Amino acid sequence: MECGIIAKANISKLIDAVKKKAVFYAPVNGKTGVEFKEVDGKQEIAFDYSNSKIPPKKFLFPQCELLLRFKDNNLTDTPLNTEKAIIFGLRPCDTKSFLYLDKAFGDTYGKYDDPYYRARRGNVLFVSMACNNPCKTCFCTTVGSHPADTAGSDIIAYDLGSELLLEATTPGGDEFLKTNSGLFDKIKDSHRKEKDKKINAALEKMKKFDIDGLKQKIDAVFLDEVWQEIVDGCLGCGICTYLCPTCYCFDVTDEKKSSGEGVRVRTWDSCQYSLFTYHTSGHNPRNNKTKRMRQRIMHKFSYTVDNFEDTYCVGCGRCIRGCPVNLDIREKLQKLNKVNVE
Ligand code: SF4
Ligand code: SF4
Repeated sequence: MECGIIAKANISKLIDAVKKKAVFYAPVNGKTGVEFKEVDGKQEIAFDYSNSKIPPKKFLFPQCELLLRFKDNNLTDTPLNTEKAIIFGLRPCDTKSFLYLDKAFGDTYGKYDDPYYRARRGNVLFVSMACNNPCKTCFCTTVGSHPADTAGSDIIAYDLGSELLLEATTPGGDEFLKTNSGLFDKIKDSHRKEKDKKINAALEKMKKFDIDGLKQKIDAVFLDEVWQEIVDGCLGCGICTYLCPTCYCFDVTDEKKSSGEGVRVRTWDSCQYSLFTYHTSGHNPRNNKTKRMRQRIMHKFSYTVDNFEDTYCVGCGRCIRGCPVNLDIREKLQKLNKVNVE
């Protein structure tokens, strides 16, 4: 596969080459920290960031999405978004999360096929940026990943200081690098050594804990009182699910004006909200925070294993950093994994 070196100072040339054919999104410093925005080469890309507050899942699964318009009984579909885009500089955990969203929306598992998601998915190229400085809250190695995981990436980039080393990992990434090969220099042994040094240093910073057998444990303790300890202190604000790159629950709402015109929109939803499972009968099967927190953990560490053969957590640590009362999923998982089941 194609690979090459580019000086960070020359990234604007790459953006110039790309923007004739596609939109280039990259991490930049915004009002609320690092966020992914369209860049045209003039902005400063945030290379040395830990991770964005809001995950890049919005590129394929927007927080609020117009599905259709209606007037009385007449429906008008909204055109599918087929914008060609390069998502540059996302962390490997976030890129990997799209493989999980693919199973839920993108037909890779042969169960569900969401045309809105799939239209965007087919036009996106992911250029991941390996982590040199994982956050203290990151635990990707615990959930089967690592700071330079290439899962889901078309190209992986390594930050070597003033230069970036890029390696293609898919035919699409290969073609991209070949098309723009004039902007890249050849990789030397010294570059490879520097790359390995940085990734090994990042790995040394990662703290791994044991979740082997967790699914069997949580399946067995579904009715145990341990869940009351797990939820202790939780406000039910839903931030942990909103910020999670693998959470994909949504609500569909019709908004109608008195004129009869209206829109149908899809918005992110959260299993931590009391109305999430509220039935029209008035019954609510998850009528307290304990059941809702149990659902969040069971969904990620048991139900998705049954349904999609994967644990739906990439260890990004956002739910830990974002929780207003400092609840830490790592502690919860370790506590659950220590429960005695006989
Ligand atoms: S962010 Fe924290 S307080 Fe809010 S729902 Fe999640 S665990 Fe509970
Ligand atoms: S559960 Fe927490 S650590 Fe795991 S992917 Fe979601 S936000 Fe990241």
